[in-house]
Amino acid sequence: MAQQEDVFKKLVSHCKEYGFVFPSSEIYDGLAAVYDYGQLGVELKNNIKKYWWDSMTLMHENIVGIDSAIFMHPTIWKASGHVDAFNDPLIDNRDSKKRYRADVLIEEQLAKYEEKMNKEVEKAAKRFGEAFDEAQFRATNGRVLEYQAKWDALHQRFSDAMNAMDLEALKQIILDENIVCPISGTRNWTDVRQFNLMFSTEMGSTADGAMKIYLRPETAQGIFVNYLNVQKTGRMKLPFGIAQIGKAFRNEIVARQFIFRMREFEQMEMQFFVKPGTELEWFEKWKETRLKWHKALGLGDEKYRYHDHEKLAHYANAATDIEFQMPFGFKEVEGIHSRTNFDLSNHEKYSGKSIKYFDPESNESYVPYVIETSIGVDRTFLSILAGCFEEEKLENGETRVVLHLPACLAPVKLAVLPLVKKDGLPEKAREIMDDLKFNFKCQYDEKDSIGKRYRRQDAIGTPFCVTIDHETLNDNCVTLRNRDTMQQERIAIADLKDYISKAVSMTELLKKQR
Ligand code: ATP
Repeated sequence: MAQQEDVFKKLVSHCKEYGFVFPSSEIYDGLAAVYDYGQLGVELKNNIKKYWWDSMTLMHENIVGIDSAIFMHPTIWKASGHVDAFNDPLIDNRDSKKRYRADVLIEEQLAKYEEKMNKEVEKAAKRFGEAFDEAQFRATNGRVLEYQAKWDALHQRFSDAMNAMDLEALKQIILDENIVCPISGTRNWTDVRQFNLMFSTEMGSTADGAMKIYLRPETAQGIFVNYLNVQKTGRMKLPFGIAQIGKAFRNEIVARQFIFRMREFEQMEMQFFVKPGTELEWFEKWKETRLKWHKALGLGDEKYRYHDHEKLAHYANAATDIEFQMPFGFKEVEGIHSRTNFDLSNHEKYSGKSIKYFDPESNESYVPYVIETSIGVDRTFLSILAGCFEEEKLENGETRVVLHLPACLAPVKLAVLPLVKKDGLPEKAREIMDDLKFNFKCQYDEKDSIGKRYRRQDAIGTPFCVTIDHETLNDNCVTLRNRDTMQQERIAIADLKDYISKAVSMTELLKKQR
């Protein structure tokens, strides 16, 4: 675990050192849980967004996009339930003065029991070697059964308390489980309180006439209030989806862990409108489709898992998270929710306008049901970096830091490197770059030894480098170096465009999801 934390620290400083992510307002000592994306970060982020957008709107004829405003009529947040129910249970430790989410403290305790069970299994697996039967061991070993019983009991109490939002019960669990503050090490806890996560501001110029409005905590509502506009103008028939990428804001209680939990972040959400009664079928379909999208990135299938919700949000009748194995454990990257007709029906009620869909096949009007897929751009960014970051030991004893980014997501696709800064090599390199820059992002670099330049490109995940040497002036060929294999091959300049374009194209990634 300590090793994993170490990797995470390295990753955070790597992000800053190479211009991926900076703390916001850094010269003023930063602003808690707000981050800025740097020159390479924005490229990677845009590529991630394109991958998602194309997966939705190119791969599905019945999914279209919108871009709705962040400011919305305040009654929308009454209707959606966010004013009354978008709360997290918070608890303070009186000694450290640190604030925690009570539910997260308990989830971490559950994870501890799981870890203990896994350790027993690992130990036994080593002892028994090939003859080891894990299922049998888990079903019979005394220690594992003891931890499992503790896990089951805690899980039950936790689910009950969360479903009833019983704040006293949550506190009692924390006390009974002897959960201590990681900073002070004490159990000196306050009571658990509800905390609303929405930011608010005022719109309008005069103090009297100003209206309290909220910064949206999710992009979904912009889709719901436009669904009939899109359906009618786009002549959409059920089932169909609306996709949107945009900023969302949450006044998170505990905002640590870098860009995993931010107060301003970006979501990619798709709301899929279906006929009532078919929603659970579509829920299963979208669960599968979305996991394929993640796995196609090639970070390792074992790094993903589903996690069904303990407590269904106020709007859902089925919900699953897709979790990724971050350096700090398996964590949610995407949520898939069957939101029923909760949002649309409430918008009908609060707005007083009918937003029913007329079904031409059955000749009836009804409010559609909704399946939502909601993924954070920033968490995806973090999962990809965590999955691609490697300090690789080379055969010659050196180490190199390399980001094995999927080529189509890499900020720079090709580095163009003249071997020396003279003899017409820089001019030749510029000529190549001027030809290729229309097709993909190239970076020119002539400073330092070629080895150092390769390392710099490895560290930012550039999949290819070409070196222009004296021979190039005679044979019009360059040395093409592959980031992952470090293999070098001679290639004609005339073939570069096709070769690299194909290797960095997003098409292959999209096809993998079929
Ligand atoms: P968590 O339980 O971690 O707070 P959530 O269940 O509240 O997350 P959703 O409301 O389902 O999250 O939001 C959908 C997605 O938006 C999440 O899967 C995540 O990727 C992203 N997201 C939510 N909150 C944040 C945040 N504070 N910072 C970055 N991304 C976030």
